[in-house]
Amino acid sequence: MGLATTISGFLCQIRLLLFFSICLAVVGWASLYLRESQRYTPKYKVKVDNFWGSAPTGKKAEEKASPSFSDQATEEEPNQKVCPVLSPNLKGVVPLSFDPSLTLEAVRRKNPAVIDGRYHPDQCKAQQRVAILIPHRNREKHLLYLLDNLHPLLQRQQLDYGIYVIHQAGDGKFNRAKLLNVGYLEALKEENWDCFILHDVDLVPENDFNTYLCDTEPKHLVVGRNATGYKLRYSGYFGGVTAMTRKQFAQANGYSNNYWGWGGEDDDLRLRVRYGGMTVVRPPAEIARYTMIFHTRDSGNEVNNKRMKLLKEVSKVWKTDGLNSCSYKLESVYHDPLYINVTVDIGRPQY
Ligand code: BGC
Repeated sequence: MGLATTISGFLCQIRLLLFFSICLAVVGWASLYLRESQRYTPKYKVKVDNFWGSAPTGKKAEEKASPSFSDQATEEEPNQKVCPVLSPNLKGVVPLSFDPSLTLEAVRRKNPAVIDGRYHPDQCKAQQRVAILIPHRNREKHLLYLLDNLHPLLQRQQLDYGIYVIHQAGDGKFNRAKLLNVGYLEALKEENWDCFILHDVDLVPENDFNTYLCDTEPKHLVVGRNATGYKLRYSGYFGGVTAMTRKQFAQANGYSNNYWGWGGEDDDLRLRVRYGGMTVVRPPAEIARYTMIFHTRDSGNEVNNKRMKLLKEVSKVWKTDGLNSCSYKLESVYHDPLYINVTVDIGRPQY
């Protein structure tokens, strides 16, 4: 009798303990979500349907990028609600994974809803159609790690998105900026994307509250990264990962095509943003955090010693050097299950 009472008392305590642990976990998750969402509630609910028309350059600042904001169902799909800016599936900080034995096949298996490099949520209509553009050459492992971490994050954010890998053919000097111009132009042949994320292959986002959506001004998503103690490199830093609407990017005339090798092209884009009458916004530092995958300098991407000279000329050349003068030879476009690969011959420096 005594033993039975002790055991039943013990079981009762275990049940109570279990009950309290579950309660604690639920309260913990809810408070994390509330805390993160309060910390970063974008000012705008950005819905861009029919708003950002084709992309003229040189319009007045007020006309440039004022998305319409709505929670309402759309005319095309009257019964489908628009997804919230902050999806209920967000988790905050997610542990990243860099498994050396990872294969593309394994990442494909983990993301069955991504088809031909694209995904859209079933439950609601996404706020924006987002093209992620990744310039690439000889960084297959980094690309694999990025795809592995980015796909689940973008799906949790309930985005309608496509990932484009813009692969530079040949072994000439690398030109990140021109590849991104090509990515923009080629992606628009496939879909009228509202928003473009200009994304380095070696930067992996750490917090899914860092939404891959465009804002009313060009948005710089990398405030901090592990390699630099999570500090903004300098106040005008605009590299790594940047979000611009179709119209904002066109208004800046895209990137310059003339930065061969490492450096300067992102500073140039920031100047174009300013000359185009726009400013730069950033999410809070606690959220805009990235892990940079370590690598040594690639051959063919040596520091560009001409960058300072080029940067002095931006105000004179930005309207004629950029998207509107980007010439290239398209070699192939193919759809992997996880991304759209665009291989392009972008030529060689003219100097
Ligand atoms: C370069 C940029 C680069 C930044 C941070 C600057 O000196 O011009 O292109 O993104 O350093 O590394």
